[in-house]
Amino acid sequence: MQIEVYQSKLLPTLKKYFGYDSFRGQQQEIIESVLQGHDNLVIMPTGGGKSICFQMPALLFEGLTLVISPLIALMKDQVDGLNANGIPAAYFNSSQSSTEQLEIFKKVGTEDLKLLYVAPESLSALRDILDKKYISCIAIDEAHCISSWGHDFRPSYQELGFLKKQLPTVPVIALTATADKATREDIVKQLNIAHAEEFISSFDRKNISLEVRPANDRITQIIKFINKKPKDSGIVYCLSRKSTEQIADKLRAKGINAGAYHAGLSFDKRSEVQEEFIFDKVQVVCATVAFGMGIDKSNVRWVIHYNMPKNIEGYYQEIGRAGRDGLDSKALLFHSYGDVIQLRKFIDGTTNEDVQLAKLERMKEFSEATICRRKILLSYFGELLAENCGNCDVCKNPPTYFDGTLIAQKALSAIKRLKESEGTGVVIDVLRGARNMTILNKNYDKVKTYGVGKDISWRDWQHYINQLIQQGACEIAFHRNNALQLTEFSSKILFEKAKVSLTKPILIDKTKKKAKKEKVKAAKDAKTGDLFDRLRQLRYKISQEQKIPAYLVFGDATLKAMEMAKPLTKEDMLNTSGVGQRKLEVYGQRFIDEIKAFLDEQGGSSRKKGNTAKTSYELYKAGLSVEDIAERRGLTPTTIYSHFAKLYQDGESIDIYQFISKEEVAKILKAKGELDNAETLKPYYDHFNGDIDYFKIRLALTVIKKEKL
Ligand code: ADP
Ligand code: ZN
Repeated sequence: MQIEVYQSKLLPTLKKYFGYDSFRGQQQEIIESVLQGHDNLVIMPTGGGKSICFQMPALLFEGLTLVISPLIALMKDQVDGLNANGIPAAYFNSSQSSTEQLEIFKKVGTEDLKLLYVAPESLSALRDILDKKYISCIAIDEAHCISSWGHDFRPSYQELGFLKKQLPTVPVIALTATADKATREDIVKQLNIAHAEEFISSFDRKNISLEVRPANDRITQIIKFINKKPKDSGIVYCLSRKSTEQIADKLRAKGINAGAYHAGLSFDKRSEVQEEFIFDKVQVVCATVAFGMGIDKSNVRWVIHYNMPKNIEGYYQEIGRAGRDGLDSKALLFHSYGDVIQLRKFIDGTTNEDVQLAKLERMKEFSEATICRRKILLSYFGELLAENCGNCDVCKNPPTYFDGTLIAQKALSAIKRLKESEGTGVVIDVLRGARNMTILNKNYDKVKTYGVGKDISWRDWQHYINQLIQQGACEIAFHRNNALQLTEFSSKILFEKAKVSLTKPILIDKTKKKAKKEKVKAAKDAKTGDLFDRLRQLRYKISQEQKIPAYLVFGDATLKAMEMAKPLTKEDMLNTSGVGQRKLEVYGQRFIDEIKAFLDEQGGSSRKKGNTAKTSYELYKAGLSVEDIAERRGLTPTTIYSHFAKLYQDGESIDIYQFISKEEVAKILKAKGELDNAETLKPYYDHFNGDIDYFKIRLALTVIKKEKL
């Protein structure tokens, strides 16, 4: 087929099967290149939208697209997702029965399959169909697995070169999120696709906000963080197996639905936790870095690093598990010198120790940065960010410097007088003149610097001392209980008038103001967010019924789009981003009903509608039917009835019994006594099995209230 013919089909196919109205980034160019029969290498960050780059051509080509993928869990997820969109896809692996496998071959023969996923190890079993008669395209997902440079090297990937030899005219598309040059070259060479078109997207994940905080009282900070958005899914990465369990316990004790995951658990237990997370049954997973590979869950809203990762590659890969759907997501890293030293110990004596230490050092620099953190991250991967990102903590609260020499001298002199034997906490207590047991028992209140830093808060002292450590003005003796000790630079500051520049801590006033703003916003969100929540609940229910992960029913981005547009007709529903033909048919009506129910209940509770209520009633008196009024005003009939209810309640002269009979009011009054959760309309509606309309329930409740029945 000519490329022009394909081109005319691209957007309609995208909408029909995936529900999207436009391509993202380089997707269209890539797809066109595949359709023209070229080989391709696609480097795109996680969440960039790689899958569509081979799924679209698969739909447009005749015959089958073979997808090589390393993990069965990933395959299953993708196949479920494709099937939910009405695309005939399957996976092939050795755990299937021979009948199942035969079924697949049969479908390939009759061209009833568009995509077939297979792990490289199982390719040999597909011998009979590895023929250009059947195969129109080969996609190699997670292509970095081919390279021994990469972090997920899989020997079986190295055998994939035979595919191009055996099927030289079939276009190959290799995809990965790993960008480095050595890996790239390896992929092209080993797959025998020397002339591949290369598509390299920016590595940046703009939607993930970056933040680093000092690691004090992490659990409290984490609980606060989670409670701000108590229903959002997230991962807490920890260094040790034990801490994953301890942290999960602590979160559970605060009512947070958390699970633990690490390589020491049995296979079954790990699968269970992973599955519960994917299905939104567990909200938070506290895990070692073993968790995440093979998880495509698009609605992970945040990633917290309880401990510092050992290098930037790991950090970036881990935070990349948040926000695959492109919506705003958060990455929070706790920075502690204790972690740095722990990691140094791990590295000590291993092969390529120097490289690893250097990488750890870069990680530490990132954590201590006072310039845009995203700039640092991207430059680590060889990409230049021209402007500050505006979505990291440094950009949001740029540091202001001042002459901190006096502060430094006070701190260093305290360290000296404490004989370099105490950690940060005691040093600060002495500076602030605290009167606790340790201080009094050790007679530290007699020390000369006792109380010289009273005017500075504990938190601010900590902020300054961290900076002194970063600048080498003092250091932590990790082998001596983390005691602070002096350095050469210390004596220069104490005795040779060396100047020290420090950054001001974030003003409490400012954070308070911000917190207030956030609170107002959260309250607003809670109001408008209600619908999102209800849609999320409905999605969860469907996911349970159909046994597919919730985000495969509809992604968060699609629910957000529904929340905004509130589609009430199938046509409007289809116009929502992420709603394709198949999902419209299967789920559309249920989501429309939910939105209607929400609007109806809202209509009944809104206070500002005196005038709009009157307008409705005037139209009614003018002879229009309720349905006509609703259509004319762009509202639902139930909302119009709720207008009438409101007028009645406000004592306007309106004959309410033209809309509802006394018997119906009596019935609902009776139900009111029987239902325990009768705050909203739905319980009544369900109680009568849908026989009494929402508007009647609303009217009856108004009558009951007004007449004090
Ligand atoms: P990757 O494999 O690169 O990590 P995916 O292919 O899983 O990314 O896509 C990430 C998310 O972006 C998915 O939720 C997907 O449905 C969505 N997406 C992909 N392409 C588009 C598009 N053109 N418009 C809107 N959303 C898209
Ligand atoms: Zn920034």
